[in-house]
Amino acid sequence: MFDKILIANRGEIALRILRACKELGIATVAVHSTADADAMHVRLADESVCVGPPPSKDSYLNVPALLAACEITGADAVHPGYGFLSENARFAEILADHNLHFIGPKADHIRLMGDKIEAKKTAKKLGIPVVPGSDGAVAPDQDAMAIAKSIGFPVLVKAAAGGGGRGMKVAHTEADLALALTTAANEAKAAFGDASVYLEKYLQKPRHIEIQVLGDGRGGAIHLGERDCSLQRRHQKVWEEGPSPAIDAASRARIGSTVAKAMQQMKYLGVGTVEFLYEDGEFYFIEMNTRIQVEHPVTEMITGLDLVLEQIRIAAGGDLPLTQDEVTITGHSIECRVNAENPVTFRPSPGKILQYHPPGGLGVRIDSAVYQGYVIPPYYDSLVGKLIVHGKTRAECLMRLRRALDEMVVEGIETTLPLFRALVREPAIIDGDYHIHWLEQYLAGQQPG
Ligand code: ADP
Repeated sequence: MFDKILIANRGEIALRILRACKELGIATVAVHSTADADAMHVRLADESVCVGPPPSKDSYLNVPALLAACEITGADAVHPGYGFLSENARFAEILADHNLHFIGPKADHIRLMGDKIEAKKTAKKLGIPVVPGSDGAVAPDQDAMAIAKSIGFPVLVKAAAGGGGRGMKVAHTEADLALALTTAANEAKAAFGDASVYLEKYLQKPRHIEIQVLGDGRGGAIHLGERDCSLQRRHQKVWEEGPSPAIDAASRARIGSTVAKAMQQMKYLGVGTVEFLYEDGEFYFIEMNTRIQVEHPVTEMITGLDLVLEQIRIAAGGDLPLTQDEVTITGHSIECRVNAENPVTFRPSPGKILQYHPPGGLGVRIDSAVYQGYVIPPYYDSLVGKLIVHGKTRAECLMRLRRALDEMVVEGIETTLPLFRALVREPAIIDGDYHIHWLEQYLAGQQPG
């Protein structure tokens, strides 16, 4: 096992990792920018090192400063959390070159899945069903129109290097294609330095269903069921739940075993998520995330497993904590991402939290790093915290969520709490009857179809 882990992240996920380390008896090193000197993860870690000024590129993404922090403190492993350097294959390699463990998958797998075109090709090879689309990138000299016509409109132009919903444009008809191609390519070039794009059939009312996996890197791999992340705004998840209200045990077992087999073949190491769109009873692979995800607590609540703790144990060479047959899904869980944003315009609302009361009681969990008097800095993501609720059934879970949301107080800044209080009372949400475009239609004041 590791002796000392450096946590190359901030906010709630840094705290989440710290908690797992404490339970395992591993010493912790927090790193922080000058803007985060008062942050909770810094206060709770055994040691802390300032790695630079507020902008992420100069601090949380500053690889030389992170290496120096490992050297100074004698850390033997780095946990990257999510975002920042978590899916940076080069970072994993640099750590290895310095005899430091990267708590995550093998660098080759990070690189492979980071290129969405290569990821799709790999998925197909491994027997995972994919969204119909172009065979790889659409080259400038290729007849994009012919490819699009063969897929059938509407088509979605997507960036090979995509992430966070950027570099994605829909072409509803033939007339939209040229513009969608240029805008997506330009956006991708600006955001990721790679203009390659590919085409996919644009699905009209799918759900976003993702399968959580765990692999030992030696050919052992299991799946831990699904999360339904269909409630999205600008392709960003807002509310996640598991099990999906749309999936039955047979479909879960079918897609789960396909994914687990693929991970066994790859000899995948650590935690990962294989994402699908699901429409008319069929699953279509869109991408794989090779890291712990924001919404991992949903799976923890229904499986009883501590995913971050298992991730650390496996990175240190440990075995899978259980066999596929031993995995049980108990009850239902929902997570709401409470952001420091105006609940109508979604404009970020950083600033000082004057009043803070997290809800409690049976089945209620808060993963957050804020406290009363904490100032949310304007430099990073706007997550205030995740409210995660568990119940024996989906109905009980909703009942608890309603009361927890009403109990939660965050004052001094604007938050998205009012949006969740409304959603949890919406008939379509209560019925579990929604798809990936539902929330945007609802927010636009339309009757979601
Ligand atoms: P990113 O890496 O930018 O997050 P993804 O490929 O994971 O991109 O897609 C993010 C979201 O965009 C999906 O959850 C879904 O809402 C939407 N999306 C992606 N592909 C399609 C598609 N072919 N048809 C319709 N919506 C899609």
